[in-house]
Amino acid sequence: MLKSFKTEINPTAEQKVKINKTIGTCRYVYNFYLDYNKSLHDKGEKFMTGKSFSVWLNNEYIPNNPDKAWIKEVYSKAVKKSIEDGCTAFTRFFKHQSAFPNFKKKGKSDVKMYFVKNNPKDCQCERHRINIPTLGWVRLKEKGYIPTTKDGWKIKSGTISVKADRYYVSVLVELPDVKIINNSNDGIGIDLGLKALAIVSNGKTYKNINKSARLRKLEKQLRREQRCLSRKYENLKKGESTQKSNIQKQKLKVQKLHLRINNIRTDYINKTIAEIVKAKPSYITIEDLNVSGMMKNRHLSKAVASQKFYEFRTKLKAKCDDNGIELRVVDRWYPSSKICHCCGAIKKDLKLSDRIYRCACGYVGDRDFNASLNLRDAVTYEVA
Ligand SMILES: [Zn+2]
Repeated sequence: MLKSFKTEINPTAEQKVKINKTIGTCRYVYNFYLDYNKSLHDKGEKFMTGKSFSVWLNNEYIPNNPDKAWIKEVYSKAVKKSIEDGCTAFTRFFKHQSAFPNFKKKGKSDVKMYFVKNNPKDCQCERHRINIPTLGWVRLKEKGYIPTTKDGWKIKSGTISVKADRYYVSVLVELPDVKIINNSNDGIGIDLGLKALAIVSNGKTYKNINKSARLRKLEKQLRREQRCLSRKYENLKKGESTQKSNIQKQKLKVQKLHLRINNIRTDYINKTIAEIVKAKPSYITIEDLNVSGMMKNRHLSKAVASQKFYEFRTKLKAKCDDNGIELRVVDRWYPSSKICHCCGAIKKDLKLSDRIYRCACGYVGDRDFNASLNLRDAVTYEVA
């Protein structure tokens, strides 16, 4: 896909001199080409194409006319383009598509400084500046208007024009691989886990809130209050003088802490889902976690319960329904962690402790992020 953008630039005084000199030279050469062909025609000779004229100009005319050496002092691609433009104008005239080409008048015509990407350094564009051959970095007045090189856009060519002492750049930009970019914007994959709650294929990570200082502190406080409560019960059994109202008070304290912790976890899930859904992906793919199986593992059960996976999935489903997003669920046996997102190879010996996925193809990436990309691209799934 090609797209053109025009915006005002803010060249330095030195750059302005160069631009004006280039445009002046282009105008001179354009007119010279027209004039030369006119005289050929008057002499009854054959029309000279732009290409032949360029060769003649550089190899014969300028070497034999040292006073015209200044033509060579400006960007040669711009000069060549002005000759090509003249040739196009003649061609149109010969085909009766337009009148005889006009000579360009200083200050009155639309001669532009053409530039083209010739090596990787040319035509790079950042938010606030653009790299133009022979000029170097030129400041842009409107920041971020032209798509930047970093976003994958490539500037193929462009022109600089001057109007009423204002300078403009017009560029032709190409998006190299529309398909890949569209697909990644299309849907997302979410890897749910214990280390982080969710790792999303769009690059976002939602940490495990249970590991936050705030929740750790509350959990510690809860354990302390629970111990205090059971001590009070034991004392009561032993017949010691513990008042029943004291036990009730302690019980309430524990319940309130439970509730507070639970609310923080639920809030976090709600916020996470809201943020994921806000990006309006066309689909979301998750893994069908074997939650009940994980709960049977007594080393994991508490951590699994605290992540509220079931609640996460139920709420995600509801939000997806509200927003017209397809929720895809892949089988729990789909090896999302073991597939190399880059080459498709399956790493059978991937251990749970391998946090970084390293593939023989050279791909190195976070294990869970790799998994989220595989979930995003999964082709076998059930729609929840
Ligand atoms: Zn690989």
